[in-house]
Amino acid sequence: EKLKIELASSIREFPDFPQKGILFKDIMPIFQKPQLVTNMCVAIAAHAVAEIPVPVDAVAGLEARGFLFGPQIAAILNVPFIPIRKQGKLPGKTVRATYVKEYGEDVVEVQSDALKPGAKVMIVDDLLATGGTMKAAIEVIQKAGGDVAEAFCIIELTALKGRDVLLDTVPVFTLLSF
Ligand code: IMP
Repeated sequence: EKLKIELASSIREFPDFPQKGILFKDIMPIFQKPQLVTNMCVAIAAHAVAEIPVPVDAVAGLEARGFLFGPQIAAILNVPFIPIRKQGKLPGKTVRATYVKEYGEDVVEVQSDALKPGAKVMIVDDLLATGGTMKAAIEVIQKAGGDVAEAFCIIELTALKGRDVLLDTVPVFTLLSF
């Protein structure tokens, strides 16, 4: 609808970033428009209430762009926000999951006591490409005792079939497909 059109027109494309052959989608122009950010977060929260079959107990956001809007969705839903971070950033006891990227391995972490056992978690990130990042996020939330109610991204690059990597584990929802 109207919101999706405005969001789509607020995404910029950068060829050959961060490396040659990649067409990078930049969501930062959305954050130049505060009313659009509010409308987006309200719409995502409304989606969570209406379309996730269980009440969401926490919103988990992926470093770094999941931190831009995850906390606002959590605040609207009146539930905690849980950061999923790159290895070595979080103090105290953590659980971790490893995933393979084009250039070697990456590790994501969550604090071990971040979630109540069985908490229903909505994971949020900006973009779903191959699904490797989201798959690791799901794994680390499960290791922390959470139950992933939905994997959410603003953008899905459908050609990369990330959804297929995740669908047998958790429900996947995205706002915009390219
Ligand atoms: P995947 O693991 O291949 O699904 O890649 C998704 C991760 O890479 C997400 O954390 C995204 O933030 C990031 N990413 C990949 N491509 C883009 C892009 O075009 N724009 C912004 N982020 C991207």
